[in-house]
Amino acid sequence: MSKISAIKGVIARLPVSDILDISSFIANHVQNQAVQVALTKRSQTMRCSACIQCGFACLVQWGRANSGTQRFKCRNCKATFGATTGTPLYRLRNRHLWAKYLGLMTTHIPLVKLREQHGIDLSLPTLHRWRHRFLTALIANPAQKLAGLIEADEKFFRTSFKGSRGWKRGARPQDRKMRRRGGADQRGFGDQQVPVLTALDRSGTIFQTQLPDTRWDSIGGAMKPWVEAESMICSDGNGAYARVAGQTGCEHMVVKKGSGGGNTRNLSIGRIDAYHRDVENLVNRRCMGVGTRYLMNYFGWARRITQHKPFGNDLLGEILAAY
Ligand SMILES: [Zn+2]
Repeated sequence: MSKISAIKGVIARLPVSDILDISSFIANHVQNQAVQVALTKRSQTMRCSACIQCGFACLVQWGRANSGTQRFKCRNCKATFGATTGTPLYRLRNRHLWAKYLGLMTTHIPLVKLREQHGIDLSLPTLHRWRHRFLTALIANPAQKLAGLIEADEKFFRTSFKGSRGWKRGARPQDRKMRRRGGADQRGFGDQQVPVLTALDRSGTIFQTQLPDTRWDSIGGAMKPWVEAESMICSDGNGAYARVAGQTGCEHMVVKKGSGGGNTRNLSIGRIDAYHRDVENLVNRRCMGVGTRYLMNYFGWARRITQHKPFGNDLLGEILAAY
């Protein structure tokens, strides 16, 4: 009898509780192998790349990490590197749980539930740190430019310093009263609102960036490099978009919210409205408000969910390949 059949025979005779135990062990092991494969690929590309610290081209092999991946040392500055150096995964422990955690990010799951219902038995601060380490990789806009029918709009979120002890310690992070999920103290755009510019096209490409303010120059400067010439930009009529269209050789169409856009060509900005509603739902309802410094992380998350891109091992591979 082969070894495998012998193992199967032993398992078949075990009580159900032991079989469940072995099943979760095997699932973890398979995921761990995927992480190992991704890390090995990354260390192979490091072998041929320059030093992260000084740019010197000569790296030498420098032993192996506990996980078995190759480490490198720079001959010039003597810095040493492992497979996760310079990536959001640097010094994250419990590698066997990475892929599982990433696989659960297809939707927002409260951290407490991740621990209690999904078997990721780590402390809440660790789970929070993991979430944001992984989401950092989703902030960058894709290299592809927006083309064809482009919808653009801004979305405002209240400034938030969730978790800050500043108010209690007498060092307020912003000159206002502390609030608990309340509205902004002032109407309209002020320093208590953060504007985010979003533009998307019919191919599913989404461009998004946080703006310092809503001046024409800020919107134009952020958006121009991302627009392909001869496209059509639809907006709610902010003059900045007309300027962007003029300067990039595009047409501009002002559309009214709802009722089919109120123009002869039936164009609307319904897609961007729907996308903003999804982000707002994630940020303000499911997460019950997020700190402003993490806002673009959540935008990155919402974009990936909207685009139906895979999480899990695929995302892990992408994170390691991007750094
Ligand atoms: Zn170096």
